[in-house]
Amino acid sequence: MCELLVGLPDVNVLGVVDIVDGLLEVVIEQRGARPSCRLCRGPAVAKDRAEVMLADLACFGRRTRLRWRKHRWCCPTADCGVGSWTGEDSRIAAPRMALTDRAGRWATLQVGKHGRAVSEVAEDLGCDWHTVNDAVIAYGSVLVDDPARFGVVAAVGLDETLYKREGRYRKQCWSTQIVDVQRGQLLDVVAGREAVTCCAWFAERSQAWRDGIRWATLDLSSSYRVVLDTMLPDATQVADPYHVVHLANVALDECRRRVQNETVGHRGRKHDLLYRARRRLVMARERLTVDGREQLMGLLAAGDPHREVWFAWNAKEVVRQIYDHTDPELAREWVDEIVRDFTDTEMPFEVRRLGRTIGRWKDQIVAWHQAHVSNGPTEAINNLINRVKRTAFGFRRFEHCRIRALLYAGKPNWELLATLTPR
Ligand SMILES: [Zn+2]
Repeated sequence: MCELLVGLPDVNVLGVVDIVDGLLEVVIEQRGARPSCRLCRGPAVAKDRAEVMLADLACFGRRTRLRWRKHRWCCPTADCGVGSWTGEDSRIAAPRMALTDRAGRWATLQVGKHGRAVSEVAEDLGCDWHTVNDAVIAYGSVLVDDPARFGVVAAVGLDETLYKREGRYRKQCWSTQIVDVQRGQLLDVVAGREAVTCCAWFAERSQAWRDGIRWATLDLSSSYRVVLDTMLPDATQVADPYHVVHLANVALDECRRRVQNETVGHRGRKHDLLYRARRRLVMARERLTVDGREQLMGLLAAGDPHREVWFAWNAKEVVRQIYDHTDPELAREWVDEIVRDFTDTEMPFEVRRLGRTIGRWKDQIVAWHQAHVSNGPTEAINNLINRVKRTAFGFRRFEHCRIRALLYAGKPNWELLATLTPR
């Protein structure tokens, strides 16, 4: 009856021990025919026992561990020369793993699919962090590298994300997310954001796969532009609206801080007019209440003598309106007008610079109006990236970040988990 409950193939249950703190320990040994020597094929003899302790799935609500009394075998033939070996059974546990096979698969599902923290799953299983992490990597890397994981992709997106800070000076380590922006699927994560490494990733795909890509979205970074120009020359490049609007907000913020410094002589403090306006400035105009708008205008009238911040604020709103247009032709005219107006010598320096950048990316910005009628895809990328950041980044080794990210957002085929062999 006990063996039935333990549910492992070909084992004898030698005992069940109640350890303190509600921990249950099940002692087992393998059952079955005596193995033969791999060299001389003669029957082996049992030498002694080696005990391993494995974390297992909870049993009747109690944390359980398996004490596996492994046989150590040796060859009785004197001149054979084979050393002793330990009986393994991957149905119980994969070699070198500190938890059982079924617990390893369960942990991979919890961490990978449900995005639970490794520490939390380790607490559930009553084992340490590394045991769970090792299992997630061993089972997960097979799922992630499944060649069928992403098929034909029509729209790809590149985005940079900070995945950790390293060393004494908290040096920033960047990574590039390669996303199927139509399906909202993370295809891969590449270390760094340089053109060379991203090009190498695309070079590893087949020509047919690359030819299938019609759209490629990117932030306004020249290195990703090089990647797409080189590796996907026929795909239409689309500037991600989020990054375009972000750039306008950055220009506004820089302008506010410069004017603040020039008029008051120091960085913003709590009672400074422009500092008090900073949140309302970056808010979308239509989200301001009537009072909020009046207060903002009052603060600007008093703290912005040359109306520079006011210009930058309007510039930001005008950039946002690019995405109110549904007609590609009107959008192109609107962007042309932006470039003309922003680069006017009357404009503050930050707005002129923004205008030049928008001019350089005009085709990519306007392409959005042809590629995506709704802004669903880009929101999908941003949500995806945020999810990945929350659950998968911060690990010491980049490869671990990559596997965690792809398990969570890369849509692996979870049905494979039941049958795969861990790495
Ligand atoms: Zn032998």
